[in-house]
Amino acid sequence: MSHTVMDETYMKLAINEAQQAARGGEVPVGAVLVKGNRVIAEDHNRCIGRCDPTAHAEILVLRKAGKALGNYRLKDTVMYVTVEPCPMCLSAMIHARVARLVYGTLEPKFGAVESKFNLLREKGLNHRVEVSGGILEEECSEIIGSFFKERRASKKTGLEIGFGRMIPDRKKVTPNSGLKTPNRH
Ligand code: ZN
Repeated sequence: MSHTVMDETYMKLAINEAQQAARGGEVPVGAVLVKGNRVIAEDHNRCIGRCDPTAHAEILVLRKAGKALGNYRLKDTVMYVTVEPCPMCLSAMIHARVARLVYGTLEPKFGAVESKFNLLREKGLNHRVEVSGGILEEECSEIIGSFFKERRASKKTGLEIGFGRMIPDRKKVTPNSGLKTPNRH
């Protein structure tokens, strides 16, 4: 399996998780952690259900994976997530020594890789994370976009989050040229 086909295969699992989140009334973000050809953990955003502001998909997946592998370091793993991670989740991935991050769509309000912050470009980090963005971007963007559209329609209130107001436009985001992004497409 080529790198791209492999990335899309695992991203589809993350998309499936995001759809489960949407059905549960949660912000639809899904994540999957893979080591070699093995899925170590899958989960989706559960902040509302758990009354836990840190229950983002990536955090839940890191916790599950740590338990599954019996190690707080998750070396040689790849994180697949439908939406560009926030600073909290990206920091957790650095702490965990995740080797590679693959994400779907941009997150204009809180994205920590290229949209709002450029966390991985900070000097002095003792771990580098390889990044590939824009994998199955359209599908990932559609899930989160339609979720907020529906919510806006039903509540008729402004949302304090970026997705609903802004369709991510990759061209308008400053390219993160310092990053290692060999598989971007
Ligand atoms: Zn997060």
